Amino acid sequence: MQVGVIGLGAMGNGMAANLAAAGLLAGVWNRTQSKAAAFAAEHGVTHFADPAALAAAVDVVITSVSADADLLEVIESLHGALSPGTVVVDTSTVAPETAVRAAERLRSGGGELLDAPVSGGPEGACQGSLVMMVGGEAEVLERIRPLLDPISRAVYHMGPVGTGQATKAVNQIAVAGVMQGVAAGLAYARQQGLDVGQVVEVIGGGAASSWQLVQRGPNVAQEHFPPGFKLQLHRKDLEIVRAALRARGCALELIERTLADYDALIEQGYADEDISALYRLRRDELAALAQQ
Ligand code: NAP
Repeated sequence: MQVGVIGLGAMGNGMAANLAAAGLLAGVWNRTQSKAAAFAAEHGVTHFADPAALAAAVDVVITSVSADADLLEVIESLHGALSPGTVVVDTSTVAPETAVRAAERLRSGGGELLDAPVSGGPEGACQGSLVMMVGGEAEVLERIRPLLDPISRAVYHMGPVGTGQATKAVNQIAVAGVMQGVAAGLAYARQQGLDVGQVVEVIGGGAASSWQLVQRGPNVAQEHFPPGFKLQLHRKDLEIVRAALRARGCALELIERTLADYDALIEQGYADEDISALYRLRRDELAALAQQ
């Protein structure tokens, strides 16, 4: 079985590189063609002219694009190019309803969708250690499971199409809470005159440890917030959660607060920074309050 990857961003690039190293990658396509050309030259795989050409040449297509509309656009461009039984494994984070729409569209062209969002960040994508939560036919997942070995350390079947994305939404709520805690704690450390880098090292080994603290804390200590996980992408995920809650007449304070924080950061020009940029707001708030 051969794989093609569509979308060579922070996540797709690492996944594609690991598939290439395992000898499973036929080729790649990326909207910005220069990225795909450079990747293809480096890894000795094909740079396909368009998504349809890629889909026609492989058994499994892995997609990693930004948001719901982007995924649906890519799925549309695959329509008509799929051989019967071609499987699209979408690792982007989108709404469960979008995954269902994409699956229906693919099925009408003979293909199958697994919604397979991932956790582990660009580091996990590079190291091949992502955790994958999959919705779709169990039999389809079992058929292609060996292809996921080079990119993941754990692959879980959650139920029908959409349940992978529903599980990922839980992850994104928890990430918001963890990063809010890390940002507040480290802003407090700074205000108290502690060495923030040392604090990260010390508490990173204790009960307050988390992936976000250990991986992003050192950057926060330097007041440097490269992605990572762009905060505008997490904003998109929290909008999905907010809409799902609103549909049931409810809301979560954590989601409302984090969305408002991201809006403030985006307005200040930080949309492409990592979510750890939340620290900027807590640091500045504490400084302003201390001066009152
Ligand atoms: P990224 O670095 O911003 O890359 C986005 C990719 O999507 C790029 O290859 C981009 O192409 C492509 N793209 C965007 N719109 C497109 C369109 N309309 N048609 C075709 N391609 C399009 O984002 P990322 O961090 O890799 O994230 C990718 C997905 O994984 C997102 O859904 C994100 O929420 C999810 N995710 C991210 C992380 C993380 O920590 N970064 C972790 C887990 C899941 P160009 O190169 O042309 O812009």
